[in-house]
Amino acid sequence: MAQSDLQEKKASPSGQESSSALFPSYSRYPISLVKGQGSWVWDDQGNRYLDFMSGLAVVNLGHAPEKVKAKVKAQLDELWHVSNLFHIPQQETAARLLTQVSCADVVFFCNSGAEANEAAIKLARRYHQKVKGEQRYEIITFAQSFHGRTLATLTATGQQKVKEGFLPLPEGFVTVPLHDIPALKAAIGPNTAAVMLEMVQAEGGVHPVDPGFVQELAALCKEQGLLLIIDEVQTGMGRTGKWFAHQHYGIEPDIFTAAKGIASGIAAGAMLAKEYLREAFSPGSHASTFGGNPIAATAIIATVETMIEEQIPEHAEEMGRYLISRLQAAFKDEPFVKDIRGKGLLIGIECAGPVSDVVAEGQKQRLLFVNAGPNVVRLLPNLKVTRDEIDQAVNILAKVIAAYTAKEGK
Ligand SMILES: *Cc1c(COP(=O)(O)O)cnc(C)c1O
Repeated sequence: MAQSDLQEKKASPSGQESSSALFPSYSRYPISLVKGQGSWVWDDQGNRYLDFMSGLAVVNLGHAPEKVKAKVKAQLDELWHVSNLFHIPQQETAARLLTQVSCADVVFFCNSGAEANEAAIKLARRYHQKVKGEQRYEIITFAQSFHGRTLATLTATGQQKVKEGFLPLPEGFVTVPLHDIPALKAAIGPNTAAVMLEMVQAEGGVHPVDPGFVQELAALCKEQGLLLIIDEVQTGMGRTGKWFAHQHYGIEPDIFTAAKGIASGIAAGAMLAKEYLREAFSPGSHASTFGGNPIAATAIIATVETMIEEQIPEHAEEMGRYLISRLQAAFKDEPFVKDIRGKGLLIGIECAGPVSDVVAEGQKQRLLFVNAGPNVVRLLPNLKVTRDEIDQAVNILAKVIAAYTAKEGK
């Protein structure tokens, strides 16, 4: 492109939606954040916010955690990227650590949650087709689930809104209602390869799955020779008060996935599995250029080591209980608040109506949080959050909801 054309494009009015060089695929809040430390972030106007969304369950150790920052900085001086055609020692260490805190034996590293789930789906199919010699391919998933935005993972997702306009969808996915064993049994056929679910449906409204249902489902998978895949992209890495949410349920999935909180905000994902699935991903069967690169793997190591040293899952469990009790006390006489639920520090407040104005008002009062579906406020503080910060957040939230219901006459 000629220099003069470049100048002309730059001269177009800025700040308006239509003039942005970005696709409008996100509806963005009118805030631009420029700095973060611990539980706090600052915008470009110098305003400070208490962050109870944590980049959507990503910065689980808070913003810019010291040990992760120091180790990544040191790694930047050594080596940024190397092909997975070479041994990458940081990746070995990261995998070893993850297997020490979970039931998994082998790990594949990628860069995001959707990719981790995509790898899980591929591993399940390949295990049946290459190791067991059975043409099984179908994955059963559940209504209101969320598994990502690639074609396969959006097809697996039990929400119509992520599928619109993207037809045709890949074959081999069936969605059944959650907590419906007869429907699940009816969906299982000779082609079924695996069942995939979240232990707490997070995007779907913060719905923890019923323990009885999980037990029955796990038993059914064993009996029918199906692989059980747990999507721990949001619930994993200490978020629910255990390293992985399935550990609350006393089950061992064949495969589970992690991403969001795994590397404190450096892009990374992982697909973790039991030993008997190792051979299904034989050399050349699956790959990722950036997956488990030295920077990302270093961030994973430092994140997991910090979590072990500081007993982060235990702290998250304790702070989760405290936050729920504070919310229950604050909203016991508030008719707009219908239910308060969650696990650890993944908490939903179901309201009697849409919460988008509540989220916006929270931002004006310098508290950041998100929704989960139209009527649920979702709180995702970092896992090192303090009682004092929880008190501050609950006070702001109580004020915001009281002002909202007064204004709306609810
Ligand atoms: C966020 C999320 C994903 C997708 O992760 P990306 O990193 O955005 O691809 C998948 N599953 C669950 C449960 C999630 O919360």
